[in-house]
Amino acid sequence: MVRGCVGFARDPYDDLVEVKIGFVGLGHMGAPMCRNLLRQGHALRVYDVVPGAVRALAEAGAEAAVSAPDCVRGVDAFVTMLPSSPHVRAVYGGAEGVLSKVAPGTPLIDCSTIDPLTAREVAMDAKAKGCAMIDAPVSGGVAGAEAATLTFMVGGDARDFEAAKPILQCMGKNIVHCGAPGNGQVAKICNNLMLAIEMIATAEGMTLAAKLGMDPKVFASIVNTSSGRCWSSDTYNPFPGVLENVPAARGYAGGFGADLMLKDLTLVADAAKAAAHPLLLGALAQQIYQKHSADGHGGKDFSSVILQYMKAP
Ligand code: NAD
Repeated sequence: MVRGCVGFARDPYDDLVEVKIGFVGLGHMGAPMCRNLLRQGHALRVYDVVPGAVRALAEAGAEAAVSAPDCVRGVDAFVTMLPSSPHVRAVYGGAEGVLSKVAPGTPLIDCSTIDPLTAREVAMDAKAKGCAMIDAPVSGGVAGAEAATLTFMVGGDARDFEAAKPILQCMGKNIVHCGAPGNGQVAKICNNLMLAIEMIATAEGMTLAAKLGMDPKVFASIVNTSSGRCWSSDTYNPFPGVLENVPAARGYAGGFGADLMLKDLTLVADAAKAAAHPLLLGALAQQIYQKHSADGHGGKDFSSVILQYMKAP
């Protein structure tokens, strides 16, 4: 690898194929993403604050680092998959952060879901250190991370997006360029805003129809060929017994956690406030998920929000 200029595409023949990658954040998503990078022939240097997570990846063939800045030493590219904005700032920023140690020209890829403003600020800080950074949050959940079928929503320069693609393709199927730095996060949180609102709307309509005497299955079949149809009604219906193989069919276990949806709605609220944009239904959706979490349902799939309208069966 040739280093020394800002940007991923330092040399058109210098592909990010079978290179050494630093990876920080080995949780539910990061660990299976790392395993897929190893399967595709990349060498890995990994770090997490949880020593057991590092050990498990070391047993699978990765090199263990002792800190995040240590993890960026000697690598050709660097990936993070962290809980939220403060963790991303902590890992990259500060006197002892990754940006204080990174070799100029090292491509940086943050896959965490964070607020767009933080993504833009950290990308600017990276640029000042001679490194291009893209934000590449994902959808597809743990199952997508395991099967390497994630969708990546990428913000950053077009040439940096193209150059990072070989790495992202080891972990996902749909890799979409969303525009300037931060726009990957914009796509991710605005999609989840719409998803949260449609899930609550589906839960409200389904439970009211049932209370007014309709068979939920019959009602869902009508909605799904009518104008109320949406992904939450036809693919992920929250009413138990309507669909098989969805969290509602197994007590809302697995899936996309209600607390993760709450986190994304909180990012939406922050972004809307910064943009002075009205957030009417989104603010209400955030409060509904806040109450749902306070009621002890944060660990359940986000479709369990229907329990705000009915008792668990
Ligand atoms: P997780 O909490 O399981 O994993 C995060 C990991 O980061 C943990 O292992 C934690 O120990 C580590 N970590 C935290 N601070 C650190 C630090 N300073 N240095 C090193 N390691 C640190 O979370 P996850 O479910 O893997 O999600 C990761 C990101 O992906 C989040 O932003 C989440 O919103 C997003 N996401 C998750 C899902 C999902 O279904 N889990 C789906 C789409 C997007």
